[in-house]
Amino acid sequence: MPGVTLKGLTKRYGDVAAVEGLDLRVEPGELVALLGPSGCGKTTTLRLVAGFLQPEAGEIWVGERCLSSTASVVPPERRRMAMIFQSYALWPHMTVAQNVAYGLRFKPGLSKADRGARAEEMLRVVRLAGYARRYPGELSGGQQQRVAVARALVVEPEILLLDEPLSNLDANLREEMRFEIRRLHETFAITTLYVTHDQAEAMVISDRVAVLHRGRVVQVGSAEDLFQRPRTRFVAEFIGKTNLVDAVAAEPGVVTRGALRLRLAATGLTPGAPVVVSIRPHEIELLAAGRAASPERNILRATVERVSYLGDTVDYLMRVSDGDLALRVTAPPPASWRVGEPVTLALAPEACVPLTEPA
Ligand code: ATP
Repeated sequence: MPGVTLKGLTKRYGDVAAVEGLDLRVEPGELVALLGPSGCGKTTTLRLVAGFLQPEAGEIWVGERCLSSTASVVPPERRRMAMIFQSYALWPHMTVAQNVAYGLRFKPGLSKADRGARAEEMLRVVRLAGYARRYPGELSGGQQQRVAVARALVVEPEILLLDEPLSNLDANLREEMRFEIRRLHETFAITTLYVTHDQAEAMVISDRVAVLHRGRVVQVGSAEDLFQRPRTRFVAEFIGKTNLVDAVAAEPGVVTRGALRLRLAATGLTPGAPVVVSIRPHEIELLAAGRAASPERNILRATVERVSYLGDTVDYLMRVSDGDLALRVTAPPPASWRVGEPVTLALAPEACVPLTEPA
């Protein structure tokens, strides 16, 4: 099973660089999600890999095979890839079994009976045994998507490409299908690129997530890596909710903002250098007035500015007394604090994460 390497991939539309100098390495058998906001270049990247678009610059490698460079380009049908689209793209006049078997027509040495047997087997894998003779119009959206998955897998591609495959499904089914796609990946371990703008989907489905911003990969890592150790302001804000505090490094492990001093677990900051610190709302603890906090934690005095009850959590906006700063804090219900009340915020140095590339 080969991996995929993208080197300096660039695709422009007029003045717009849809993809610009994009580098990414997908290990053999790995599923990497391309995650980013609308227009960041996800679909363009996938279409470049599939061969539907030609890059202006850069290279695409699958294992030791160079599929695209300034010297040569391999056409899509010879790339040994399968793609699954948001729209499913099933043939409406063919039965489910015929749709799945369709790609096998071009495989040498397979009889019609072999093709039928393989299609049946793949329908069983995607849990659609018994639906073989139905037409796509007689299936739910989720079942149609399973047919599209079966059709892609049956040809035993080297690389699987998925472009927002779940976005036409309702929220509950989308969640169920995430686990299903992950299960199939664990069964077949095909090297996969999966485009989505849905952060939770990327986190559930993938081994690693590549965050795209303005046509480039800005950070690649496991879901936990990206959440715990975002390197840029963009990643910190895109992956989960956070508070970003602009401060200045004062001494090793301490930053200041006006009269506010924050101790960080990180050292190695250059005194006098600007630092952006990311603090996740759920890492801030609310203490009742007068309750002692452990001495190693940062203690901030604040006033409640806004309270939003969200069912499983309460979202507060706290105005910090020092440092001209408002912090979002999430806490379990009930909503114990009222607007205007004074509160004490406690936060561990480890919860104050300096971004290494604040731009
Ligand atoms: P979305 O999540 O909305 O699908 P995306 O991250 O997949 O977005 P792309 O579709 O790759 O983004 O588009 C990247 C940029 O390239 C956008 O600014 C888009 O407007 C532009 N673009 C894409 N296709 C074309 C095209 N055929 N002609 C001109 N500009 C295009």
